[in-house]
Amino acid sequence: MNSGTGSDPAVGDARPATSDATEAKLSALIGRISTHLDQGALLIGADVGDGYRSDATDERGPRPALVLRPRHTADVSLILSTCNDLGQPLVIQGGRTGLSGGARPREGEVSLSLERMTHLESVDQRAGTIVAEAGVTMQSVQEAAEEAGFLFGVDIGARGSCTVGGNIATNAGGIRVLRYGMYRAQVLGLETVLPDGSVLSSLKGLPKDNSGYDLNQSFIGSEGTLGVVTKACLRLHPLPPLQVNALCVLPSLAAAQALLTRLRQELGPLLSAFEVIFPEVYAGVAAGGFATPPLPVGAGLYALVEIQGQDKSENHERFAATLMSAVEAGLVDDVVVSQSPRDYRGLWALREACSAFIFSMDRMVGFDVSIPLARMQDFLADAAVRLLAIDSSARPYVFGHLGDGNLHYMVRTDRDEDIADAVFAVVAETGGAISAEHGIGLDKKKWLPLVRSASEIAAMRRMKRAFDPNLILNPGRVFDMETEAAGKATR
Ligand SMILES: Cc1cc2nc3c(=O)[nH]c(=O)nc-3n(C[C@H](O)[C@H](O)[C@H](O)COP(=O)(O)OP(=O)(O)OC[C@H]3O[C@@H](n4cnc5c(N)ncnc54)[C@H](O)[C@@H]3O)c2cc1C
Repeated sequence: MNSGTGSDPAVGDARPATSDATEAKLSALIGRISTHLDQGALLIGADVGDGYRSDATDERGPRPALVLRPRHTADVSLILSTCNDLGQPLVIQGGRTGLSGGARPREGEVSLSLERMTHLESVDQRAGTIVAEAGVTMQSVQEAAEEAGFLFGVDIGARGSCTVGGNIATNAGGIRVLRYGMYRAQVLGLETVLPDGSVLSSLKGLPKDNSGYDLNQSFIGSEGTLGVVTKACLRLHPLPPLQVNALCVLPSLAAAQALLTRLRQELGPLLSAFEVIFPEVYAGVAAGGFATPPLPVGAGLYALVEIQGQDKSENHERFAATLMSAVEAGLVDDVVVSQSPRDYRGLWALREACSAFIFSMDRMVGFDVSIPLARMQDFLADAAVRLLAIDSSARPYVFGHLGDGNLHYMVRTDRDEDIADAVFAVVAETGGAISAEHGIGLDKKKWLPLVRSASEIAAMRRMKRAFDPNLILNPGRVFDMETEAAGKATR
């Protein structure tokens, strides 16, 4: 699946990234750091596996000539300060599950992979926090939290491979943003290393700290362009004794939006997820055997909703009664409520099967967009018309986090670039965002000026220069540094 889909001109070459211009820098770098690092810290040449050439998008970059795999923050500091001295650009890699090409190498870059920084401290029961190194997977954080009687508030399909560092750099979202907020809301402290090697350590985990600028916020969602995250203090929530979900069959998007409003009003903070699956995706999941849906195909729309509560019987009854009243009001045509942990997992497996179905298809270009709820119908209608004007065989496949106004809008087409221009234009016209959660990376920067003003992009460039004056960290991600007129596409 493509993402976006403005691929970068510097990618797609399978040769090692060792042009003459970089050779001298590389050997100087290796010479200056290798004696200070352990044996497994450097992968060179043929030892660099294919996986380091990309993230979860289809496109591959050149194989990095060198992969640096620090074990400690001090190693990261040494690597960055040396690269900074030499002007050696780096691509930062976590679990490489990103969907915008941010971790995909470009010519001349060496990889800085946080995969060996996997230490997870035990849960601080009193504070309700956990401290994790950047390479710890999301699933490890979730499991450690659960064992200690807590819940980690973010969950995404890539949980088994994506890492704390990548999650922070992309400000990951997922299925429970409605209740717990995005990854940003889980971060109580960070340790980061700046390109000059200086370490910013702010891991006190204080819920309140207004002592000067909150520098941590700058790194969250900055896609590795400002500093390298090495450690994080993460907020945990009480583990809810009750988790119940339900699959609803709905006549239309308008009904889904009315249901969302009703559930918010009647269930308040109990409501923890509200996902939608459009009929083409639901049918594809069923036909391809990716999951066995409990309700028949052919409806207008499907919604998967979840509550998490503290009072098992009262909350469950309230959920069921609220859904029944939505059926009586004509908002819901049919509903199945999970009655066991097995049912519950089965319904979530159906939602995750949507990604598996989409990833299984060729010629698929993916958009991860935010649209104001009031304009979502306009977006879908306008985008459909413009797609067909470009490619009469183009078909949208849609699912996503309706509770947050976030749709994964996929189109099957051979006209990626034209379709992307059209979809992003409609996103901008409807007051949306071209990336709700996956970030801009390399693949979407062409369209950033559609949704960010020239002043905003100029301020971002000034921040980049302030943190990374020699432009060694993830250069060319999110935006390019050269001065350009607003609205002018750069790639
Ligand atoms: C099946 C599937 C489902 C997904 N579902 C969701 C979803 O629901 N919500 C969502 O938000 N995303 C989702 N994603 C996208 C992806 O998992 C997230 O973007 C994730 O946060 C990336 O983490 P990672 O460790 O794989 O980062 P990578 O892909 O390795 O890197 C992502 C970006 O972060 C930078 N980076 C990585 N580590 C660091 C670090 N230590 N310091 C500084 N910068 C760093 C990289 O340079 C790159 O720019 C999904 C992906 C897949 C494949």
